[in-house]
Amino acid sequence: MTWLEVGLTVLAALIGMELFAWYAHKYIMHGWGWGWHRDHHEPHDNALEKNDLFAVVFGTINAAMYIYGALYWDALWWFAVGITLYGVIYTLVHDGLVHQRYFKWVPKKGYAKRLVQAHKLHHATIGKEGGVSFGFVFARDPQVLKAELKAQKEAGIAKVRESATPDRGAA
Ligand SMILES: [Zn+2]
Ligand SMILES: [Zn+2]
Repeated sequence: MTWLEVGLTVLAALIGMELFAWYAHKYIMHGWGWGWHRDHHEPHDNALEKNDLFAVVFGTINAAMYIYGALYWDALWWFAVGITLYGVIYTLVHDGLVHQRYFKWVPKKGYAKRLVQAHKLHHATIGKEGGVSFGFVFARDPQVLKAELKAQKEAGIAKVRESATPDRGAA
């Protein structure tokens, strides 16, 4: 493979993983996989969550791609590199920056702040129904997300924590 092909393959994996993360989070984790994802949405003092099992499963699939790729298919090996890169970015931002599992730094401005706010709004709903911001590296404007949460609450689609959508004066 040329370096251009390698670069495009890794890029395709990064973009593909953001789409896959959005889909898996919305339809698997908040769907039939809620049993594993649930404790990520509930307060606790444990170092590990059942939700971490998803990382184990995805990591195992990623490892299998390296093995198959090394034996039969160069492009798959590089695609696996892109997936690993996404995993590293994901855990640094999600587990590190947002949930402070291994470092504490609160961004005050810029896209990093937006990422944190968007994911915190994902955690604003109670239970598996409704919710916003299932993707990760691509974060929408928090104001738009708040408006969407409010609409979901009013339509009875989601249970939303009070602090997330303060609507003064409403019944
Ligand atoms: Zn979730
Ligand atoms: Zn989270």
